[in-house]
Amino acid sequence: MEKAQVNEWKEKLPFIEKVIAGEEVLWLNPLVESTSTGLPKTGVTAENVKDASDRLKRFASYIERVFPETIATKGIIESPITAIPNMKEALAVQYGTEIPGNLLLKEDNALPISGSIKARGGIYEVLIHAETVAIEHGLITTADDYAKFADLEFKELFANYKIAVGSTGNLGLSIGIMSAKLGFNVTVHMSADAKQWKKDMLREKGVTVVEYADDYSKAVEEGRRQAEADPSCHFVDDENSLDLFLGYAVAGERVATQLKARGTVVNKDNPLFVYLPCGVGGGPGGVAFGLKLAFGDAVHCFFAEPTHSPCMMLGMMTGLHDQISVQDFGLDNKTAADGLAVGTASGFVGKTMEPLLSGCYTIGDETMFKLLKLLTDTERIKLEPSALAGMTGPVQVIRENVNNATLANATHLVWGTGGSMVPEAEMDLYYGMSGK
Ligand SMILES: *Cc1c(COP(=O)(O)O)cnc(C)c1O
Repeated sequence: MEKAQVNEWKEKLPFIEKVIAGEEVLWLNPLVESTSTGLPKTGVTAENVKDASDRLKRFASYIERVFPETIATKGIIESPITAIPNMKEALAVQYGTEIPGNLLLKEDNALPISGSIKARGGIYEVLIHAETVAIEHGLITTADDYAKFADLEFKELFANYKIAVGSTGNLGLSIGIMSAKLGFNVTVHMSADAKQWKKDMLREKGVTVVEYADDYSKAVEEGRRQAEADPSCHFVDDENSLDLFLGYAVAGERVATQLKARGTVVNKDNPLFVYLPCGVGGGPGGVAFGLKLAFGDAVHCFFAEPTHSPCMMLGMMTGLHDQISVQDFGLDNKTAADGLAVGTASGFVGKTMEPLLSGCYTIGDETMFKLLKLLTDTERIKLEPSALAGMTGPVQVIRENVNNATLANATHLVWGTGGSMVPEAEMDLYYGMSGK
């Protein structure tokens, strides 16, 4: 984008100055509307999400068979919701803002198989591809027991097929681990900022890792180019995949079941606020979509982005979505938050969520590290830095009393997006990064 255009945007939306200055800001989406009118505008339906949910149930017997850590949940890949009352008190002290409602943490850090939110969409997309190929070859029907996917004939079939993905790390882990387990030939194209331990772990599991000196967008672009040249290769398109989105969206009905089980009421008078760390947008977008399906107007969803990478906020604010980058506005897209260092948001997710998202806010890296230490100290829960981006949401939203966020019977659900795969030594380094 030309400099003149940036200046035009500054005049039109003075708020943008604060975003460009790297301040921690809350932006409320003026286009959010009632779920009853907003959902039909998206082109994604409840049936689409139900189809994904049913597919994950079909695969549960297979998942349980090959990933014993899922035996307790009978092959359903799900994480607990945990109350964090000590953190709630600590946040109130830290920010001088009471949090009158309930504060809960969705522990996707503890998701089995790949330890991050990517175990929802990423694994789902690999499963749907495996199912499609197996049905095409007459190896299975949807009425069969999918535990058969662990049989040798499936592995032999999938060895003729390739799966590729571009990733800063966590998506690569999910796609790589699941694809390799099924027997696919899988390549993960990784950006320069991807951690060494993630590359090592993938290579150990038989995944081909290709490294790039550039950022995430370049790794994705190159991965896509190579995959397109090969008809036997399925490219997982983090920027445009409906399947990824649907895999994430299944979380909505699961959260509804979990909240009900713990006696947390959600309705118009007992609103639910959800804070989701956002990179390219598929994970938080899909989850928020599923939550809107499950709770309608009783849920208010917010995306959290690093102050250096607010691609979704800028894309939605200007309505230009994937036509602009944070670099266009002079931001450097440099953040320690793995998975959130994304300069250009998914246009598909931005447009889909336009009528449904309540807002976006930004958070500085220092704040994420401070909160990482605080959560470890108060609750003994270890998250990776990105996963803390959701944690200032309640403070931001309560300060401005958005949608009656100050109600004592409101529930604030912070989505902890990852952590359990991070090696102990790495986690200790994160803990030590806090200046306080
Ligand atoms: C990928 C990721 C996100 C964001 O998901 P997107 O689909 O990229 O928006 C948030 N937190 C963690 C830990 C992630 O790995």
